Amino acid sequence: MIPVTERIRQSMVSLHMARALETLDQTLSRLEKGEISAIEAIDELLAEELNLREGRRIGVALRTARLMPVKTLESFDFSFQPSVDRHRIMALAELEFIKRAEVLHFLGPPGTGKSHLATAIGVAAVRAGRSVYRCSLADMIEALTKAEREGRLTEKIRFYARASLLIVDEIGYLPITSGGANLFFQLVNARYEKGAMILTSNRGFAEWGEIFGDPVVATALLDRLLHHAVVVQIEGASYRLRHHTDLIPEHTRAHASITPPPPPKRRGRPLKNGGAHQLNG
Ligand code: ADP
Ligand code: MG
Repeated sequence: MIPVTERIRQSMVSLHMARALETLDQTLSRLEKGEISAIEAIDELLAEELNLREGRRIGVALRTARLMPVKTLESFDFSFQPSVDRHRIMALAELEFIKRAEVLHFLGPPGTGKSHLATAIGVAAVRAGRSVYRCSLADMIEALTKAEREGRLTEKIRFYARASLLIVDEIGYLPITSGGANLFFQLVNARYEKGAMILTSNRGFAEWGEIFGDPVVATALLDRLLHHAVVVQIEGASYRLRHHTDLIPEHTRAHASITPPPPPKRRGRPLKNGGAHQLNG
């Protein structure tokens, strides 16, 4: 007759319980020494196995969701960004907005933590067992354009519509063609009132007509993206540049508004280029 411990070992092999199998000898020896009870031994073995599997699931899900490198709310320095209400962010990280299929907007100048907070909430969602996908707006539009060209648009929209939380990062950094805006609209429509989104942007909603190169599509987009929405506006200095504040012009330092700075005051004769804005260094 096979001894009980050997039978347990074989069962663990058949059940692919690698971690429990690894821990078995140690747990049994503690049991024999009377350090733990039989019930505690069972609990310990199952907990070890579960921990390993949960860690593995989260690792795979974070990579699939494109949430690497991982950002967390614990690593966000709220004291650096006083315009961000810690309690409000923590409440959002309870993820009720995902159940309600709402849209969460993070608005603010570059470096103020929009992508960090969006990612951190995505990571919290993955840990809670939700499916998440993150991409930049430019990458998504590129992928949708390619899919359309190859006759796979429906499939691709279905892919972006599938996750229970879709994070679209960096709206406003690059201008979008009207074809691209149209594709994004189709996706937003597919998710509308069905799936939650987090959007980050360095530009105000008033500028969406300009970003998407078409005021009509921009209005239709905003109509859906602001219907069930939470807007978190960040006003403050860039965390990236925190050690270089002396190098940054005063008007872009703290409390930079998300509307562009006013055009530089002109002195004397009119500009040769008809007043087109120049990017000053
Ligand atoms: P944004 O998306 O607003 O341009 P990011 O979220 O990418 O800015 O932030 C830039 C970098 O600074 C990232 O590495 C991010 O983790 C870090 N960061 C930004 N704000 C904070 C903060 N308040 N505490 C800790 N790290 C921060
Ligand atoms: Mg960002």
